[in-house]
Amino acid sequence: MGQGNDLTALTLAQARDGLRAKEFTARELTQSFVDRVAASEKLNAYILQTPEHALEAAERSDARLGADDARPLEGLPLGVKDLFCTRGVRTTACSNILGDFTPPYESKVTENLWADGALMLGKLNNDEFAMGSSNETSAYGACLNPWRTDAGEALVPGGSSGGSSAAIAARLGLAATATDTGGSIRQPAALTGTVGLKPTYGRCSRWGIVAFASSLDQAGPITRTVRDSAIMLTSMAGHDARDTTSVDMVVPDYEAALTGDIRGLRIGVPKEYRIDTMPLEIEALWQQGMDWLRDAGAEIVDVSLPHTKYALPAYYIIAPAEASSNLARYDGVRYGARKMGDDIDDMYARTRGEGFGEEVQRRLLIGTYALSAGYYDAYYLKALQVRRLIAQDFENAYEHCDLLLTPTTPSAAFPLDKGQSDPLEMYLNDVFTVTVNLAGLPGISVPAGLDAKGLPLGLQLIGKAFGEEELLRAAQVLEEAAGFSAKPDDWWTSS
Ligand code: GLN
Repeated sequence: MGQGNDLTALTLAQARDGLRAKEFTARELTQSFVDRVAASEKLNAYILQTPEHALEAAERSDARLGADDARPLEGLPLGVKDLFCTRGVRTTACSNILGDFTPPYESKVTENLWADGALMLGKLNNDEFAMGSSNETSAYGACLNPWRTDAGEALVPGGSSGGSSAAIAARLGLAATATDTGGSIRQPAALTGTVGLKPTYGRCSRWGIVAFASSLDQAGPITRTVRDSAIMLTSMAGHDARDTTSVDMVVPDYEAALTGDIRGLRIGVPKEYRIDTMPLEIEALWQQGMDWLRDAGAEIVDVSLPHTKYALPAYYIIAPAEASSNLARYDGVRYGARKMGDDIDDMYARTRGEGFGEEVQRRLLIGTYALSAGYYDAYYLKALQVRRLIAQDFENAYEHCDLLLTPTTPSAAFPLDKGQSDPLEMYLNDVFTVTVNLAGLPGISVPAGLDAKGLPLGLQLIGKAFGEEELLRAAQVLEEAAGFSAKPDDWWTSS
């Protein structure tokens, strides 16, 4: 019993190994997390707790562990972003328009995790329909970062996967699922001192994940270590006939790729990522990252991604355009909440006007505009051309290098309400991450240091399509060199 609280300090890999060595039971491990989650309401990371679910599954895992019949993730408690449909468990994408929608089906990614023996602690907060960079657009209210300034100022955990990043930084789960359309796994990971991996487009099935922008959306894990990300991805990835963009390729054992040997690897440093507004300490950390990788035997090469400056403008045409189509289904007839009106048009208008928050409405208006007659050619088709050029930039760069190293974000975690008044400023958060989605590539953020205020900063590695093994191998070397061990304190617990 006494060790109960310590169990939440384990990494996913340590917990897995401890369960197999019978150092503790899945029931004990799960109870420790259930108790900690129950005391975490101040953070607002979990918008729904499912303790019975978790504890029942833990009993079944203990039976399997006892019979030496453990599956890869047997008995390991996880949090699930509320964008993933979970059978019989409320799923809302943190939007009022979904009301109390309770899906009769399970997303493929979570199905894979449960089939491998993992169990669910609950559903995690996110920006409404994953639109945002601070988790402040959620219908359930903002989620707080467990990291604060020394003066005790409340900070955002990043977004849209802010619940996932806050939960893992605060040890409210061994790992969390998340999604990334323009940076929503990597940016929140960077702002909370956690590891966030966005796999190659098509590596994980999007089936059963609430759609935002289908040609950009990709699921991935947020974890405390690179090893844990590798373990999670091995279970999450795979082909699925119900998502025709998921790729039918063997899923490697990503953990086995972590050899620690990156000698001879060429790391490209794109000069266009040296933006004017970048704080000096982020610039310095980036240089430090290059030195760490060079010391480990890699070669650093300068590369150019000339169309980088068009990435955010193109993204803010393409993502809203796809969102306006995907979100047309929320009409008060098929899902969730309905507001009655004088006639059917009035019912649609009221349902959508009251059900969607301000940021989502802004995106739907931009997207509908960009797709309308006369503007389609001027905006949408141009944005698609830019997207192609950005992908070509990466292809050209990869003739000279194997991976790219960049900062993950242009700043550390910021105070609540900061970006709300100026949406454009909020959009700049993704300046280093969004190119990766446009090109469909894998990227990972690794905690690499603290800023002058004692807040975490991340470095991003970008890989080639389906190059996750190489990406994770280099990320682990970077993680080891950085030796990031700072932790936020438990100011938020209400036990
Ligand atoms: N912050 C970006 C946006 O608001 C990206 C979000 C995401 O990756 N889901 O669209």
